[in-house]
Amino acid sequence: MIQRAKAAINGIVQGVGFRPFIYQLAKKKGLGGYIANTSTGVDIEVEGETEEIEIFFQEIHLRKPPLARIVHVEWQYLPPRRYRDFIIKKSQVQAQRSTLVSPDVSVCDDCLREMNDPRDRRYRYPFINCTNCGPRYTIIKDIPYDRDKTSMASFSMCERCRNEYEEPLDRRFHAQPNACWDCGPSVYLHEYNGKPVDGADPVSETRELLKSGKIVAIKGLGGFHLTQPMERRSNDSGGERIGRKSP
Ligand SMILES: [Zn+2]
Ligand SMILES: [Zn+2]
Repeated sequence: MIQRAKAAINGIVQGVGFRPFIYQLAKKKGLGGYIANTSTGVDIEVEGETEEIEIFFQEIHLRKPPLARIVHVEWQYLPPRRYRDFIIKKSQVQAQRSTLVSPDVSVCDDCLREMNDPRDRRYRYPFINCTNCGPRYTIIKDIPYDRDKTSMASFSMCERCRNEYEEPLDRRFHAQPNACWDCGPSVYLHEYNGKPVDGADPVSETRELLKSGKIVAIKGLGGFHLTQPMERRSNDSGGERIGRKSP
């Protein structure tokens, strides 16, 4: 029997690859319907054989993405609407805001592999990320979690990044902070007085500065991190500094 099921799922279900996961699962089961981020989590409608729908909901729990946490699922059967396809709908903004937001997640093995591969277009790109890793909490300004509600909104994706973002089988499908050397944030080095340090690779240069005993303020996505070599921490004898020290 063909039925339609409507579900509201609450928990950490935004910014963790939940929509692409549901999309692929529904496609695999031949179910029509949609998924959308809401201010309280995600809304899902699926339509198909009762048995497939029940398996679909079981598999959500069994196979959900590693960073997803399901707190509450509410679902019910409704008369079918003859959905032809399964789609990811535009997020629904509601007055009530109660979804959980994922913390920032350190770089995953797949991204590390790309970052260290000289043939990869993100070779040594410091802001590499994907659906399973990267910044979340520190870039989110509001929910539902979509790029236009993050500090990445001002970086418009290049064609290649956009293609990854829009391709359901890509591991960066709907990865909101998706970026590369051509379109994303860049890294640069300034002296303490704001004078740019030209020519050098900022990351290698920073490493050299730290090795030579300098203090460097590294601006990340969530603020500044003051760094100095371990051996200097107990013995702060001053010297030339490139970053500002906290008062
Ligand atoms: Zn990753
Ligand atoms: Zn790009």
